[in-house]
Amino acid sequence: MSRLDEIGEFGLIDRIAKVTPGAANVVEGIGDDCAVVRVGDRVVLLSCDLSVEDVHFRRRYASPEDIGWKAAASAVSDIAAMGGRPLFLLVALACPKQTSVDFLEGIYKGIQSVARQFHIAVVGGDTTRSLDHIALDVTVVGEPVNERWMLRSGAKAGDVLVVTGPLGLSSAGHRALDRGEAVPIALANAHLRPMPRIAEGQWLSAQAGVHAMMDISDGLLQDAAHISKRSNVGVDIKRTMQVCTTELRTYCDAQGLSCLDFCLAGGEDYELLFAVEQEKVLAIFTGFAATFGRDLHTVGVCTNEFNALRLDGCEPLVKGFDHFRS
Ligand SMILES: [Mg+2]
Repeated sequence: MSRLDEIGEFGLIDRIAKVTPGAANVVEGIGDDCAVVRVGDRVVLLSCDLSVEDVHFRRRYASPEDIGWKAAASAVSDIAAMGGRPLFLLVALACPKQTSVDFLEGIYKGIQSVARQFHIAVVGGDTTRSLDHIALDVTVVGEPVNERWMLRSGAKAGDVLVVTGPLGLSSAGHRALDRGEAVPIALANAHLRPMPRIAEGQWLSAQAGVHAMMDISDGLLQDAAHISKRSNVGVDIKRTMQVCTTELRTYCDAQGLSCLDFCLAGGEDYELLFAVEQEKVLAIFTGFAATFGRDLHTVGVCTNEFNALRLDGCEPLVKGFDHFRS
């Protein structure tokens, strides 16, 4: 009998998928950023995201508004990953009975800030008692735009792997906040107030040549490995990628740390990772910069020379975040 810390988060998801077969109206079941289902003649995107005190956030440095924002933003980011439009949120909360009501109201204000920004309605949920920690689960309901939804599968050998923004800031911010250091604002913001890339995801899903997409929640290497597995293609991430910001480099230099490690393995950046065919790269980079005033960044290539995730052609030593492995 295997234990959870032996099989890991993704071993568990594989086991769950085996005991929960889909149904005829399920277009895409367990294993992507969202489930894709048919309701009548419409396609609906569904996802949920769970945040647990002292696992995902600490009250010591996260305000209740931060906690609510991040819980909602990370759920909504899975709709961005499909190139979809978020419509509704349901919020389930477990908390100890002595929790301050103002604190809890602050959490819902944070959730509502995300809802307001992306024109989403919070329509229900549940509340219950926990023994000592706060747990917050946000379910998001959305729909595809452009009559197309982006999956992790679909990447092809020869595709270029691209991200919508810099990486590593959130995990460096987490480290600094957790250690009680003076935290550069860009790092703290990246960790406490991540921004779901909704408009970017919709724009990318409308571009010909974009074959696969997901959001980066567990770190570039780990998430790129999902594209490799689901697309049945090799993925080679390049150390020469330029995804490190000045703020991250300054922090890492001062701490004697490698900013590349944060960019490769740090989670919770919630930028989008996508595979696009070589011939479309220039047009998409130019169009994206003109539309959003920010640059895309190449991080690697898809290949049929091997069928796994590699870093400059070698098996990477670090991968990324797994909730159940220590
Ligand atoms: Mg995701």
